[in-house]
Amino acid sequence: DGFTRLGLAPELVQAVRDLGYTQPTAVQDKAIPLAMGAGDDAGRFIDLMVSSQTGSGKTAAFLLPVLHTLLQQQAAAEAALRAEHERAAAEAAARGEALPKRPKRKNPTHSRNFKAATPGALILCPTRELAQQVAHDAIDLVKHCKGLRIANVVGGMPYQMQIARLQNANLVVATPGRLLDLQRSHQIKLDQVQFLVVDEADRMLDLGFADDLAEINALTAARRQTMMFSATFAPRIQQLAMRVMRDGGASVQ
Ligand code: AMP
Repeated sequence: DGFTRLGLAPELVQAVRDLGYTQPTAVQDKAIPLAMGAGDDAGRFIDLMVSSQTGSGKTAAFLLPVLHTLLQQQAAAEAALRAEHERAAAEAAARGEALPKRPKRKNPTHSRNFKAATPGALILCPTRELAQQVAHDAIDLVKHCKGLRIANVVGGMPYQMQIARLQNANLVVATPGRLLDLQRSHQIKLDQVQFLVVDEADRMLDLGFADDLAEINALTAARRQTMMFSATFAPRIQQLAMRVMRDGGASVQ
């Protein structure tokens, strides 16, 4: 079907089918292959500036490519771990020793040594309501993906609850203010963020988040991919795009 044609992982195509989507919307058709496609010579994904209205299917247009790449990276990491175990087992057998135990995946929530959360993807939303909606959509899309975890970081909710979920999250959906609070109190580190999405960039600016966005942007990995979604391409949006993306991002209209 249309989502398979976009090159998405079968786990995600199945989730999209479960939601009853049969064909990608126009913005999904344009943005998803660009977001997942080869970027520059150094193998980086390209930055995108996407014009999108609410109701266009923009949320899945940024969630699907990000989740797809996180899934691929997770599969590659697991394959490397398996290969390493097999190599160690073969060496042990050659020496006539017992097989080494398979390394167990650590669950950081059970660790006594607290570590800051280090998500690979960050979605920024202007309001708590939108962030909760986007997190809800992300949870629907990962229902067939083992091991991809979503966390929500928004103001007005108890810190402790959010921090517990945050510990092993791969993708965090946040409002800028609460995210910076958690970053400053060392609950979260952003230097592993390889995918940064700014949803409803025009409303972000209306709400005065320009400096917070620039600060968050500077804390993320240098090799990240940034995608901005906005209803308009007004000059102030373009200025923000120039601040947070290489060459202001490729525009998708
Ligand atoms: P959004 O623009 O992200 O707020 O999405 C608007 C609505 O469209 C949401 O209720 C989505 O669940 C729905 N939607 C997103 N993509 C598709 C699709 N490809 N086919 C049908 N509905 C969709």
